Amino acid sequence: MTQAIPATKQTATFTKLVSKEGGVEYDLKPIHVCEETFAPLEVHYDYDAIRRQVSRESIAAGPNSIWRYRAFLPVASENPIDVGTGMTPLLKSTRLARRLGLKELYIKNDAVNMPTLSFKDRVVSVALTRAREFGFSTVSCASTGNLANSTAAIAAHAGLDCCVFIPADLEAGKVLGTLIYSPTVMAVKGNYDQVNRLCSEVANTYGWGFVNINLRPYYSEGSKTLGFEVAEQLGWKLPDHIVAPLASGSLFTKIYKGFQEFVKVGLVADKAVRCSGAQAEGCSPIAQAFKEGRDFITPVKPQTIAKSIAIGNPADGPYALDVARKTGGNIESVNDAEIISGIKLLAETEGIFTETAGGTTIAVLQKLVEQGKIDPDETTVVYITGNGLKTQEAVQGYIGEPLTIEPKLDSFERALERSRTLDRLEWQQVLV
Ligand SMILES: *Cc1c(COP(=O)(O)O)cnc(C)c1O
Repeated sequence: MTQAIPATKQTATFTKLVSKEGGVEYDLKPIHVCEETFAPLEVHYDYDAIRRQVSRESIAAGPNSIWRYRAFLPVASENPIDVGTGMTPLLKSTRLARRLGLKELYIKNDAVNMPTLSFKDRVVSVALTRAREFGFSTVSCASTGNLANSTAAIAAHAGLDCCVFIPADLEAGKVLGTLIYSPTVMAVKGNYDQVNRLCSEVANTYGWGFVNINLRPYYSEGSKTLGFEVAEQLGWKLPDHIVAPLASGSLFTKIYKGFQEFVKVGLVADKAVRCSGAQAEGCSPIAQAFKEGRDFITPVKPQTIAKSIAIGNPADGPYALDVARKTGGNIESVNDAEIISGIKLLAETEGIFTETAGGTTIAVLQKLVEQGKIDPDETTVVYITGNGLKTQEAVQGYIGEPLTIEPKLDSFERALERSRTLDRLEWQQVLV
């Protein structure tokens, strides 16, 4: 449906794909692994060209979406697919910060990212723009849930055919939030890692654009915008410490890459940013390797309510370890009960309803503060990457219930009295 862009017209700033190990170089094709080392491929840029093209002013005058950073993204199109993704709020926390004992805490709120309420809309906007440039007419993904939502929605917007693969046991909200866009949905009886393996076979034989397989080098660059936006929203400054969730580890490494690129082209002053990562205990291969001082990942079988980050064999695990270690960060894990407490804590203190991945991140933030691994004086940014309305079953049974009353004043007053008594009893229980 769309024509591939001839290489000669690519005036863009991205120049080649380079293997993350050994540096073998490749043309800008829909490929993602080095044929020699089997390492992932990464997009490289001409930073002198970017420096000539952008300034703080030109970025600030750009679209109110990730495309204000187009010079840093691997697309050639003049008109990338813009569904309003990005530029989500960076909230200065008061109540959560006080609760945790932090002086300066910010919440990057991708629970309200457009159009499907998770950070995945960023990576998919980039991947599908690139898919269109390559001339793919069918796009696909192996998903833990949010990616299927994003791919289906943005493919619908762009008029691309779409077939997505998910584990069969996903939350109802994630399944419905994909089906509504009318893609083909394959619910695979297996975990994400099995879904991913199947998709690698399909990608090799069907000639589809898989956003997180053959388009992965382009896709993953979209996550840099979570670094760019935070730097811009802090007034063109880098924070001291960030905490973000880890699934494949890609997002985490790309926030770091985003900060570095802004330094490289002179948009922000250089500063050491500590990068800390969050995993669910029931799927924590990167956190385990971090704690044991290993630089390789031992795959695990996921067993956690945090399904959106349940990747047992994380492709970017070793690179995430490297980022955490070289920046002086940490990678911690929390159990399912702590994840639910994290969801509730963020909701009660800041009015933000996040999904299980966000609960994981908040609970890890709390743990790192308690362990003294985040200094109260550090300017800290916590990344909330998804929306709680999609994982309602996780908190079902851990929240209150409405007080059902007759449409009469005395019924209301009796119920109010009862609820106040209950509150007092709860407080007494807390105190004894
Ligand atoms: C996919 C996902 C992540 C992590 O993504 P990776 O880049 O694979 O580490 C974090 N949070 C949410 C809500 C996600 O859907």
